[in-house]
Parts: sequence; C-alpha cells; structure tokens
Amino acid sequence: SIRSIAIIGSGLAGLTAGILLGRKGHHVRVFEKSRGPGGRMSSKRVSGSSADIGAQYFTVRHPEFLAFLKAYAGADNFAPWQGRFGFQGDDKQWQAFPEETRYVGVPRMTAITRALSEHVPVTAQVRIAKLERVGEQWRLICTEGNDHGSYDQVIITAPPAQARDLLEASGLNELAGGLGHSEDSILACWAVAAHFEEAPSDDFDAMRPDSDVLYWVANNSSKPERNDQGQWWVLHATPEWTQAHVEEPAEKVSEQLLAAFYELTGYQGAATDAVAHRWLYARSVQQEQPGYLLEPGLGVGLAGDWLNGGRVEGAWESATRLVEALG
Ligand code: FAD
Repeated sequence: SIRSIAIIGSGLAGLTAGILLGRKGHHVRVFEKSRGPGGRMSSKRVSGSSADIGAQYFTVRHPEFLAFLKAYAGADNFAPWQGRFGFQGDDKQWQAFPEETRYVGVPRMTAITRALSEHVPVTAQVRIAKLERVGEQWRLICTEGNDHGSYDQVIITAPPAQARDLLEASGLNELAGGLGHSEDSILACWAVAAHFEEAPSDDFDAMRPDSDVLYWVANNSSKPERNDQGQWWVLHATPEWTQAHVEEPAEKVSEQLLAAFYELTGYQGAATDAVAHRWLYARSVQQEQPGYLLEPGLGVGLAGDWLNGGRVEGAWESATRLVEALG
C-alpha cells in the first residue's frame, strides 16, 4: 500500500532512502537542518574554488551502488581520483596505498548529493526536534515548534547522538536505548582547507602520516576537474588532537595544523589562505553494526553510515537495506 514517509537528514543515506521509496510509489519528504543536502559528503566554498572537507573519496564494493549512482547522480557527476596515495608505517617509512578505484564527486564532492536531491523533495533549514504520535501517524515538529506534517513512517538518518536526542524527545526510549553510548561512537574532526601558490609537496597527492596531529592530508586540486589556480590542500586532524582542541578558535586550529603539515613535508613557504571547519560528528567507531534499525510496529527506522561500517558506501547500503525491510 502507498504510504507517506518522512526522512530526517539529506546525507547519502537519507537521499538514497528517499529515492528508493519514491520509486516504489510512496509519498516521501526529506527534512534537512542545514542549508543544502549532502551531510558529510561536503564541499566548502573557498575563494575561487571549493574544497572537499568531509568525505575524501569513496570505494565501491557493491556493483549495485555504482549502478545507483549512475542512474540517479549521473555518470558526469563522479569520477575516479587517480592520485598517488601514501601512508607512513610505524617505522616512518612511506608506502603506497593498495590499488583500488577511489571515486570523488566532480567538480566537487557535493555534485553527487546535489544531483541525487533532484529526485526527491527536500525541505532544507528545518531541524526536526520531535515526533508526536497522532493516531497511526507521526507528526514532525521542528525546533521552532512548527508542524511539518504527519506521516505513516519516519526514517531517521542523523548521526547517533542527534538521533538519540530526537528519539528521547519523542518518548521512543526503547529505540534510543538500543543506540548505546552514542556520544562515544562517532568522533570529532577538525578540517582545514589551505591554498598554496606552488606545490607544497611532490611525493604524494594524499597522505596518511604517522602523526599525533594530522590524520590525513590531500591535494584537493589533484582530484578530477578541479581546475584550481595553485593548489588547495585539505588537512584533517586526528580524533585525539581534535578532542583536545575542540573548543579552540578556528584560526588557531589552522595555524597548528599547517605547522604540522610544514613539518611533515618540509615545505618552506606559507599558505596564502586557510579556512577551518569543525565536524562534531565525523568518523564512526560504533561497535554494533546491525546495518539499520527498525521498529516495525511504530513505523520508525534508522539508517546511516554508523550502523553499517562508517563510510560512504555503508551509508548507501544501510538505507537500501532499511527500505527493503520496510517492504
Ligand atoms: P550524514 O552525511 O551525516 O547525513 C545526516 C544528515 O542529517 C546531515 O545532513 C544532518 O545535517 C542531518 N540532520 C541531523 N539531525 C537532523 C535533524 N534533527 N533534522 C534534520 N536534519 C538533521 N567516508 C568514506 O567513505 N571515505 C572517506 O574518505 C571519508 N572521510 C571522511 C572524512 C571526514 C572529515 C568526515 C566528516 C567523514 C568522512 N567519511 C568518509 C564518512 C562519510 O562522509 C559518511 O560515511 C557519509 O557521508 C555518511 O552519510 P549519512 O547519510 O549516513 O550521514
């Protein structure tokens, strides 16, 4: 039977669920607290360009994931990133990453989620604060106290701490309890995008250093179709460093991550521009990986990367499996 279904969050999981449920003929609406879709598959506008400050690339293990992206994001909106990837072992020696196709959005990561969002109605800048039971349906109430309609089923794709707040505010304590100690299950990450007139490093396009400060550094301009003047690099701090500096001003964070970057590469010049972004919920370290959660009697389900391996493809698979379970 045709149902009305609300989806909370327009990251890859929410958009995937919306598209697949819409294809089955259901009436779907996606709610997103931010200005646009994408969630953690995010790009930041920087002077003259943009830089991917969230997910850096993704791999594809399921052929159906690739087929889904081709069908709904369009083959023009993503491409393999043929970069040179290196990681530093405990002995400080550099080694190449294993061979694998690593995809990115073109000309920026958000091209994928923007294209997906054209297939499903998204209401942006609305943060859902609670669900109220009205007969057999759920009424969605935002943080402003407004009514955003009633639906037969609700899918929550927010990261675990936010999902738990929403469930508790809705009196869905049993489902909330099933999320475990969600504060610890997803780690924060400071990200910095920095511009250089000349290449600050020639060895690799992307590096995972053995460092207390830097978790990952990448030449965003080496991704396909960026066409940047000079080079934009993206630096991610380690979870430990981020936790210790989580309240620090963005400018100080940029300075410190850049200092670590210069030390790593031996670069003698200086960045011409730098912007920092703090992800409070970045990487999942959730122990339990059920794939998705569903309370069929209540018509409330949860999907997201953190329930299924903590990566881009995992977010897609989680949503796909929840949609199958909803029938
Ligand atoms: P999200 O993208 O987080 O979507 C959830 C959405 O819900 C958000 O848009 C949020 O604004 C919205 N929302 C939350 N609460 C509410 C509410 N109450 N009302 C309305 N909307 C709400 N993955 C990889 O595969 N490879 C990588 O290299 C990689 N690197 C990463 C680096 C960083 C710094 C970060 C942050 C993530 C990285 N990831 C990487 C992880 C990847 O980004 C995620 O796995 C994936 O994007 C998660 O998709 P999702 O839909 O599950 O969640």
